[in-house]
Amino acid sequence: MPDGVPFPNRLESARRKPLRRGKPMLSIRARLIVLALLAVAPLMFERIHAIEGARAEGAARAHARVIELAHRGAEAQNEIVLSVRALLQIVAQVYARTAFDRGDCNQYLASLAGTIPWIHTLSVAATDGRITCSTRTQAIGLNVGDRAHFQHALHSRDFALSDYLISRIHEPPTIIATLPALKADGTVAGVVLAAIDLQWIPELAATATRRPGASILLIDGGGTLAAASANLESSIGKRFADHALVRDMLAHDEGTITTAGLDGGRHIFAYVRVPWTNARLAVGLDQQAVQADIDRDIGIGYLQLALIGALVLLVTWFGGDQLIVRPIRSLTRTVGRFGRGDLEARASAERWVAEFEPLASAFDDMADKLARREEELRIANQHLEELASLDGLTGLANRRGFDRELQSAWQHAAASRQPLALMMIDIDHFKLYNDRYGHVAGDTCLRAVGETLSLVTLEEAVLVARYGGEEFALLLPGLDLPRAAALAEEARKAIEDLMITHAEAPSRLVTISIGVEALVPEKGLPAAELVEAADAALYAAKRNGRNAVVAHAPLQFSMAS
Ligand code: GH3
Ligand code: MG
Ligand code: MG
Repeated sequence: MPDGVPFPNRLESARRKPLRRGKPMLSIRARLIVLALLAVAPLMFERIHAIEGARAEGAARAHARVIELAHRGAEAQNEIVLSVRALLQIVAQVYARTAFDRGDCNQYLASLAGTIPWIHTLSVAATDGRITCSTRTQAIGLNVGDRAHFQHALHSRDFALSDYLISRIHEPPTIIATLPALKADGTVAGVVLAAIDLQWIPELAATATRRPGASILLIDGGGTLAAASANLESSIGKRFADHALVRDMLAHDEGTITTAGLDGGRHIFAYVRVPWTNARLAVGLDQQAVQADIDRDIGIGYLQLALIGALVLLVTWFGGDQLIVRPIRSLTRTVGRFGRGDLEARASAERWVAEFEPLASAFDDMADKLARREEELRIANQHLEELASLDGLTGLANRRGFDRELQSAWQHAAASRQPLALMMIDIDHFKLYNDRYGHVAGDTCLRAVGETLSLVTLEEAVLVARYGGEEFALLLPGLDLPRAAALAEEARKAIEDLMITHAEAPSRLVTISIGVEALVPEKGLPAAELVEAADAALYAAKRNGRNAVVAHAPLQFSMAS
């Protein structure tokens, strides 16, 4: 059956209709990102809060650190002083009892001083201030009677410390510890003196100055800078009693203050009174350096936050793509394939995440139904097509069917370089037949002629058509003109042999006239040429007296008498 012109199906008409699209909405991935941001926003705010909290904590930590350093210095001093005091007590007791009347007192003092590394010099002075024994031989004979610490020891009758002696700039400051040696009757036998190297000062300075911009200061009770870290070394020995920092330090036993240091730079200072003295020890951290540390920590905190945020966005973007957008795209592709006419396209060929499964199977159901409908339509179409190409009376192809088959056979012949033969057949004096026997009998006669023509050319003809009223046309591919003419003669004879009575015809029988043509289609030669030629031959057959075959040339096989 020839292929029909497909009826426009619903899918195609739907495809041709322009789609009305609304405003594009936020894409799924963008929505997922908004969701993810909403989800992490509380965490982010919490983190920002923590980071900002760390700013205050950083400042508090810096304060705590300087306070701790200051206290550590003071404690170191305390321990040193206590150890020295214990030693002086031993020396004082021995001296009070014996006045060193036996043995070498210098050696005795040296052996005692050797047990405590920070005792620089250990001496004993008589009540007039003259040094009688000392670990330093140069000191023997010197008179310290005018020194304040000596006088203080003499009068207070108790352990005392001098102010800091700032004689050697590059050494730690020295203080003199004094303790009067009291006899059993309570009178003063002499005064024991120990010069103490304060080693804790450089140690503390080393610890403090491990931080950039940190400094330490030791201010004596009079406001003089007794010791300092390297940045202030040149100011050691100077008085700073009027400096705001020093005034604050001397006014309290301990405290913290953020102010300009002795070098002019702003520092966070913590200070404590050094035990046994009026001196104050201050440790300062450069405020800018502390702030820079805090800012760096906060910067790192925000950077981490930004990285986490970026990670969340990336994970959401790619996760959303993999888990949601990709399945949608895949489903869209399948629907698109189906829309383009691939009725085999089904979503169930792929695996779907749970949420997409119902959508995929709903699509497949719909696709199944549409495909079935499409198939039904195709069959119905084909049926209609066949009906439209058939002649109702004879059951042969009609003119429409003939035209279509002619085109196809013509192209086929052109492609295969084979001849295509055509018989045009017309019943002779059929009007008279109708007039004589009636239209119904005419119809019967037409059916009989059609059947006979079909039977006779069963093997050769691809098509037997009712071309018009009482005209038939037969297409015979591969037959050249002589073979086609011979077959036409057989057909003519077969009709004659039907012996259908036609009283009005000269032969008294129903007969047919046949025009035959066979052509190998030349390039550009239309199939209509074949029809015209066969028609001309038929006309010639009629003119020749009917019941005849004319093949192209006025070739006549037989003629009714
Ligand atoms: P000729 O030998 O020259 O062909 O003469 P003719 O009478 O056959 O030719 P004409 O063309 O004058 O008449 C054809 C007739 O065929 C006219 C019409 O009544 C008849 N006819 C056409 N179609 C039908 C049909 O379907 N049924 C019947 N019964 N007759 C038909
Ligand atoms: Mg006719
Ligand atoms: Mg006729």
